[in-house]
Amino acid sequence: MSKPTAGIGMTSQRTRERMVERLRRDGIRDERVLQAMAGVPRHLFVEEALASRAYEDTALPIGFGQTISQPYVVARMIEVLVHEREPKKVLEVGTGCGYQAAVLARLFSEVYSIERIKGLHERARSNLLGLRLANLRLVHGDGHSGLEKAAPFQAIIVAAAAREVPEALVRQLAPGGRMVLPVRVSQREAQRLVLIERNGRTLLETELDPVRFVPMEAGKA
Ligand code: SAH
Repeated sequence: MSKPTAGIGMTSQRTRERMVERLRRDGIRDERVLQAMAGVPRHLFVEEALASRAYEDTALPIGFGQTISQPYVVARMIEVLVHEREPKKVLEVGTGCGYQAAVLARLFSEVYSIERIKGLHERARSNLLGLRLANLRLVHGDGHSGLEKAAPFQAIIVAAAAREVPEALVRQLAPGGRMVLPVRVSQREAQRLVLIERNGRTLLETELDPVRFVPMEAGKA
């Protein structure tokens, strides 16, 4: 283990529990999600200089021009995904530092996470090493194509904002499955969280909260 999983002061279990209390106050209700969030040491996923701010409800830089998503948004998206469902196989697009992948791995029985930037994919791997999450697979690739070899997925979660819902991801969504992703709604900066549910042959699309994510980019880097 390269870093300790429990620290003192701002990085302790108590600080994490306060974060979970705040999520509860802000409206996150699913105990499975709250427990998963309580179990992941978020400070291990940000640079040491920022560790004391890891549990604030804010996005933080993780290098390569990318950010770790704010705790509320992570909790909210996962809560929507698992609503009235057994958390089985999930695909995450945009591993980043690996934080959300770790939360997913505490909840879903099988987790696949794709990242297009090689350096981040490797950083996530080293961040996650000490947590020993045997049900999590990290992949270096372009999330626009999803992950055919592991499809279909009961849940898909995208951590970068696309202009349109990627076709391949829709195809790889299992019957009854749910996908949550930020979509750029206009030429302007505005983005919305969108929920897509597959019911047999039909797809049901629901617009949720306004959000702000880094853009989804094409190809590997
Ligand atoms: N879930 C992450 C959030 C990272 S930010 C966390 O917990 O920290 C979003 C990430 O999506 C960035 O790392 C970015 O490089 C990645 N990304 C953007 N477009 C992508 C694509 N087409 N395929 C895979 N990853 C992509």
